[in-house]
Amino acid sequence: MTSAATGGLLLVHAHPDDESITTGGTIAHYRRRGVPVTVVTCTLGEEGEVIGDEWALLAAEHADQLGGYRIVELTRALAALDAGPPHFLGGAGRWRDSGMAGTPAARKPRVFVRSGVEAVQALTDVVLRVRPQVVVGYDTKGGYGHPDHIRAHEITTAAVQAAADQGWDTPKFYWTVTDADMLRLHTAALARRTVEGLPGALPPGWRLPAEGELASVPSHAVTTTVDVSDVLTAKRAALRAHATQITVAPSGREFALSNNVAQPVLPEEHFILVRGSRGPVGPDGREHDLFAGLD
Ligand SMILES: [Zn+2]
Repeated sequence: MTSAATGGLLLVHAHPDDESITTGGTIAHYRRRGVPVTVVTCTLGEEGEVIGDEWALLAAEHADQLGGYRIVELTRALAALDAGPPHFLGGAGRWRDSGMAGTPAARKPRVFVRSGVEAVQALTDVVLRVRPQVVVGYDTKGGYGHPDHIRAHEITTAAVQAAADQGWDTPKFYWTVTDADMLRLHTAALARRTVEGLPGALPPGWRLPAEGELASVPSHAVTTTVDVSDVLTAKRAALRAHATQITVAPSGREFALSNNVAQPVLPEEHFILVRGSRGPVGPDGREHDLFAGLD
């Protein structure tokens, strides 16, 4: 049983598309069970690289309109996941995508990496208003190390603590991660299909990820697995909604960003519990419900 007694599930993401890439299955899984889900997005993703020609001139170095367009993409993605309208931290446009580490984007006004205590307060206010039973954020590296993901990690950690001090102690706080063993298995299967010319081979122009190229954590570090195999259609629809950023393979088994590196659409999503008590676990020693033990 999944508890939906109060504010349900609150997820904090850096850019439009992160919610679908890392937690799209989990969002759809809990919405299907009637759990309230709030997705907070910290920036508009203005510095994203655009796939294809149709919207290419919206990019930061041309019209600088990509952020506005990505609100549309996020709205469609959340609709596919049945997760309601977008919620941007501080209101849409308050903080700007800081770009990849070492790029000039980080010196532009309003960048999220320099959001300071105001961002912590804004997110603390959200936590106090929503009163979630479960909060999901990023690990200390922000998954793959994007400065905005690291900043999202920092403010989520700080806001969960600040909210606890001000009257809402979130019962369970998780990091979204990927299990390295699952990633390796999937990549090996894709390589095999490609070599043997089987259905579901690597699309033309794409390449396999190198060992360690995609963010993952050692399998033993994962505390919780959510089976999302029954909501993969919704997750794929959400990924496709972010068409300026993501291409989904014809097989639906992988997607790629503008770098054309194949990333799996896994049938499970992984988490590490970092605050609160672990609930009942399965034979594999992992929880299989983010709300486990809260009923
Ligand atoms: Zn991101």
